[in-house]
Amino acid sequence: MNILIINAGSSSLKYQLIDMQDESVRAKGQVERIGIEGSNLKQKVGGLEYQIIAPMKNHIEAIEHMLKALTDSEKGAVKSMDEIGAVGHRVLHGGADFTKSMIIDDKVMDAIRACIPLGPLHNPANIMGIEACQKVMPNTPMVAVFDTAFHQTMPAESYLYGIPMEYYERLKIRRYGFHGTSHRYVSKRAADFLGVDAQKGYRMITCHLGNGSSICAVKDGKCFDTSMGLTPLEGVLMGTRSGSVDPAALQFIMNSDNISVDEMLTILNKKSGLLGISGKSSDMRDIDRMADEGDERCIMARNILVHTIKKFVGAYAAEMGGVDAIVFTAGIGENNNALRERIMDGFEYLGAKLDKEKNKGRGEMIISTDDSKVKILVIPTNEELAIARDTLALVSK
Ligand code: ADP
Repeated sequence: MNILIINAGSSSLKYQLIDMQDESVRAKGQVERIGIEGSNLKQKVGGLEYQIIAPMKNHIEAIEHMLKALTDSEKGAVKSMDEIGAVGHRVLHGGADFTKSMIIDDKVMDAIRACIPLGPLHNPANIMGIEACQKVMPNTPMVAVFDTAFHQTMPAESYLYGIPMEYYERLKIRRYGFHGTSHRYVSKRAADFLGVDAQKGYRMITCHLGNGSSICAVKDGKCFDTSMGLTPLEGVLMGTRSGSVDPAALQFIMNSDNISVDEMLTILNKKSGLLGISGKSSDMRDIDRMADEGDERCIMARNILVHTIKKFVGAYAAEMGGVDAIVFTAGIGENNNALRERIMDGFEYLGAKLDKEKNKGRGEMIISTDDSKVKILVIPTNEELAIARDTLALVSK
């Protein structure tokens, strides 16, 4: 069966068509500038590239163009839409209602809509993507896979904030955590790779380091704690997001510069992190290059990033009473060996010894020394494949 994976943003849409027989990617594409001038679609099928620039007023038109591209007689991946057996949708916020992926029906849609206040930037876009697909392919089963679901096993001491309980009870204010599909995929894959039974007393720390970054404590194969919170803004320093900040500092800035809450949140989401500290770039490759050339602000940005990641790794080892494996994934985690070395430097006391030569390798690998008590690994994440597997499992039932 071919499964279509859709990740819809407010003005963009990324997709992959995966053949579940061998889990190979048959097509990969993205639509950008939906509803804005210059809407365009780019798709790759093997070596064939399909590209169009055409007005796309909304997600329905974007999905119509996507299906046209996928079924194109020359550069498409399938002959007709009938060859797409199911669609898996990435949904950002599932609140506390969803602990696993779900077949989409009216009840599930209502619950995703009810989570809009918790994910105001992403959930409306995810909903548009689902509704557009339902219109264009009404007979194809659809599955929602939530970024928050894996984290629903956290105990209350991990997910409650130290604020009056009424805000949790009345407004559902708590830590939800994100990148759950990635943390679930890499923690499971790491356990398989190591040949360990992660369900029994095994303690793992997974570091998803990309433009957005989060760290997760995984105990007995389940999420025990994670660095992102009610929204993906909390936790470690990111490309343009601040990570954790004293909320009173924000009041200070807002009063002093007379800016609104919305403006403050835009600064925290879009102008902070590596970009805010360096004043130059949100991309770690740029930061590394300029830091290596001696740029003080880029050195500072890199140091802060390393420092905040170390803090979470240390905290999670303490919370779980130790750690058996530390896993790196996503753009920075998979590719930036120098940063991995900086992060792991000083963790020997915990029994985690990095093998600097192995750390220079690529792909899925163990990068700790043979005598390291704690295994250190790189596991490339594959959220699309995880979504496709969930989708297949649900629609095959
Ligand atoms: P997103 O969170 O948007 O999915 P990624 O996981 O691709 O993003 O992470 C983007 C970050 O990863 C950037 O800071 C970038 O510098 C870094 N990165 C991505 N690919 C590489 C690479 N091949 N080598 C070094 N760094 C990389």
